Amino acid sequence: MTGQRWTLDDGEGGEAQFFSAAPGEEEAAARELIERDWQLTPEGVTWWATAWIAPADDPHERRRIWVAVDPEEPECPGEEDHAWRQVSLTGHGGGVILTDACESCCLRRVTDTWAHCPETGVQGLESIRYVEDES
Ligand SMILES: [Zn+2]
Repeated sequence: MTGQRWTLDDGEGGEAQFFSAAPGEEEAAARELIERDWQLTPEGVTWWATAWIAPADDPHERRRIWVAVDPEEPECPGEEDHAWRQVSLTGHGGGVILTDACESCCLRRVTDTWAHCPETGVQGLESIRYVEDES
């Protein structure tokens, strides 16, 4: 038999078992499970749901993983989709903050490629938020 059984722990007493077919695929499998089974509510800005995974036969080998929960994109009142156009790009840590504006409704989408998760302290994550144009 190939593959390995893993335990997913939500850190609050909830556990689930899952199976990863190949070494190195367990994090992706765990993320899939979280996205499917957890009630993840998008907020105004990207946040990160965190959990721990460990081989089912070796609970001490556990490590933390996280799943990005992006805010829902507001619908564009004009066109079917927003017509994004880049309006600014500034450096932020080891990444950039990229601002796009919709040519149709003026909504701005701010992407930070050097966001950090306040809970895990992990840096270099990507966060998104939508901002109404105030001008
Ligand atoms: Zn738009």
